[in-house]
Amino acid sequence: MSAMNAANADVLVAGAGIGGLTAALSLHAAGIGVRVIEPVQVLRPVGVGINLLPHAVRELTELGLGEQLAATGVATAQMVHYDRHGNRIWGEPRGHALGYHWPQYSIHRGALQMILLDAVRERLGERAVVTGTSFVRCAETEGQLLRVILRDMARGREHAVRVRALIGADGLYSTVRARLHPGEGPPLWNGIRMWRGVAEWDPVLGGRTVAIAGSNAHAKLVVYPISGEAERRGRALLNWVAEVRFPVEHGAISGAADWNRTGRLSDVLPYFAGWRIGDLDVPALLAATRRILEYPMVDREPLPRWGRGPVTLLGDAAHPMYPVGSNGGSQAVLDARVLARSLAVNDPDRVAGLRAYEEVRREATAALVLANRRMPADRLLQVVAERAPEGFDRVEDVLTPEELAELDAAYRWTTGTDVAELNGRGSWGV
Ligand SMILES: Cc1cc2nc3c(=O)[nH]c(=O)nc-3n(C[C@H](O)[C@H](O)[C@H](O)COP(=O)(O)OP(=O)(O)OC[C@H]3O[C@@H](n4cnc5c(N)ncnc54)[C@H](O)[C@@H]3O)c2cc1C
Repeated sequence: MSAMNAANADVLVAGAGIGGLTAALSLHAAGIGVRVIEPVQVLRPVGVGINLLPHAVRELTELGLGEQLAATGVATAQMVHYDRHGNRIWGEPRGHALGYHWPQYSIHRGALQMILLDAVRERLGERAVVTGTSFVRCAETEGQLLRVILRDMARGREHAVRVRALIGADGLYSTVRARLHPGEGPPLWNGIRMWRGVAEWDPVLGGRTVAIAGSNAHAKLVVYPISGEAERRGRALLNWVAEVRFPVEHGAISGAADWNRTGRLSDVLPYFAGWRIGDLDVPALLAATRRILEYPMVDREPLPRWGRGPVTLLGDAAHPMYPVGSNGGSQAVLDARVLARSLAVNDPDRVAGLRAYEEVRREATAALVLANRRMPADRLLQVVAERAPEGFDRVEDVLTPEELAELDAAYRWTTGTDVAELNGRGSWGV
């Protein structure tokens, strides 16, 4: 598709990830004209699993995507913590089972992106997402219009478009963020390497469990099923993330964090030798995975402000966070919905709309970035490993009631909105 199709949109969104595409659907639903640009020529379902928490599922359901999510993902029933021997430390129901009106879904990130992309093309037209085109920089403002310089990736040529607002939804290495906040440098790495993969397996741990074993003090494994289609065949498409901490100071990584980088089984397997969680043989699952990916656990310092004039940030471009509590993709969805609402409420003043959006979202997401760094539940999981290195029969013999309550509170805080608050509040739809 020609890059010129991005010309003169009301709102231009840079980046067709989860955040950018949800923003396009939300803006369109609010009656605001929008175009999305994306450097990748052909978007494919890349990535592995993510979790969509009930607050994000609500927003996507209100955008008319509830049935597709239900058919594609797996409605998570519970989240359970185990020690490295598979002894249950703590768990709680999730989604509907916890009282939310909306489920939590475990889903393939790429499948979710394709659901959003198809919906954008169907509702806004084939030309709404201009692929093979990247944001380069903003030029001058002409009256109410901002001149934005884009690059046609295939031809290597730059051209200008005029828009009333620009949304940088261009991910961890956001160019829009770099233009707004020059000199920020690379993402910050906490010393944890994450290996990730997907393999078809027999259903384990009751079938709809997000299982977390070990702790980030050393080695941790997260496993959950992500495919409704596999479930309907009596199988499970298991997504796993193996996290291992290395003795590196919190700081900049060398080289880029690349979601598509291939990892090696021999690098990760030794850390999980002999691990068994209930009926799940962990080394066997890792060894059966056709393609293993590797990614460093990174984030960025929260920004004192996101945007300026008719420009702002959204999703990972605004607030990349550690995947503690599975909140990154969900927060991008919430950003998108608040953005559309703020622009509609302040229409036709786009600058006022963007500032109103930042007012709602910036501090809330900064608090999550910082909370995820503290990994509040991890301290207690490490306490379990120290007090009972060979395992235990009853967790009450290892943790005090106060410590167990602390675990509970830690999870409530990092993963979610209060049940009554989410169920009770009015729609953000316009
Ligand atoms: C290829 C890929 C695979 C991923 N896999 C996983 C995964 O397996 N598990 C997980 O937890 N998270 C994964 N993530 C991250 C996850 O999608 C995000 O943390 C979360 O969904 C927030 O999404 P986002 O839309 O803000 O950012 P992203 O999903 O990162 O999307 C940003 C988009 O912006 C585009 N972009 C980059 N530069 C420019 C530019 N100059 N101009 C215009 N567009 C630009 C990118 O190509 C990308 O499509 C992945 C991200 C990507 C891009």
